[in-house]
Amino acid sequence: MDLREAVCTKLKRDNNLDYAPEQIVVSTGAKQSLANILLALVDEGDEVIIPTPYWVTYSELVKIARGKVVEIRTSVDKGFKATAEEVEAAITPNTKAFLFSSPCNPSGAVYSKEELAALVEVFKKHPQVTIISDEIYEYINYVGEHESIAQFEEIKDQVVIVNGLSKGFAMTGWRIGYTASTVSIAKGMEKLQGQFTSGTCSIAQKAGVAALTTDLKPTEEMAEEFTRRKKRVLELVNEIPGIVCSEPDGAFYIFPDMSSYYGKSDGEIFIKDSADLCMYILNTAHVSSVMGAAFGEPNCVRFSFANSLPNIEKGWARIKEVLSKLK
Ligand code: PLP
Repeated sequence: MDLREAVCTKLKRDNNLDYAPEQIVVSTGAKQSLANILLALVDEGDEVIIPTPYWVTYSELVKIARGKVVEIRTSVDKGFKATAEEVEAAITPNTKAFLFSSPCNPSGAVYSKEELAALVEVFKKHPQVTIISDEIYEYINYVGEHESIAQFEEIKDQVVIVNGLSKGFAMTGWRIGYTASTVSIAKGMEKLQGQFTSGTCSIAQKAGVAALTTDLKPTEEMAEEFTRRKKRVLELVNEIPGIVCSEPDGAFYIFPDMSSYYGKSDGEIFIKDSADLCMYILNTAHVSSVMGAAFGEPNCVRFSFANSLPNIEKGWARIKEVLSKLK
């Protein structure tokens, strides 16, 4: 109860949102929160709309629930965001949910208040659609205040907010995630979670209360450091020919289009797609990345900058060198 109350305090303090503790479900990480929601909501054949690129787990969880993933393909030139028209066109009588993250992993896209308002106009017309809003990168936002779609009162009951302590508080290993939703959805998730895990570790819960109710200065300092790293990583990436990289508005990844390297070879290894390129970079530069295909965007590759500036510089120097060998 004290952690659920702390989540309510945080939602009021940071997002001006009113929730009661019975609307909050705490889980072993936001990943379990997402699993709880999708397994509680989605039945065989139900459709879940997910704009690309999306966090890899989303589509896999929909498949586990025997639902159908309906992708909206976005692109670098559209800022990797789905428009209201695209969402409207994707909705069918079988649509159960719309699932997105803002700030987005992997693209770093952040939906503005105006863009969310346009989406809200669509969702208002389709009250059967649950909006799953993954806000775990809330505090790692380079463009201003975090906007939650739940702040639009007219659709608040359609929204399930997903959040957790892994990113903003760097408490990944503590495994604390949570949702805020209507009481009926919360009860459905609780029923399911009660059979899976009972609940998250009580020691971590106490740490969660401290994180959520004390001042945000360490988080803000961390976000400032991420701003410095983002600037540096963009300088390094833009020195490399053949990479098209947009500036992330949030989170700690870059998601450049590297498809100009597909079809090339270093004389031994042929690079046909994002998986081959990631393996080549891993085996020759000893830097790990994640293939864009896993996020629904095969032209791109995801690189994290959640590492020290010296390591980022060392890693990108190596990547530059191995890419220059591809002809
Ligand atoms: N949502 C997004 C967009 C993520 O990137 C992650 C972790 O990478 C999670 C949720 C899950 O976080 P956790 O399970 O560590 O709370």
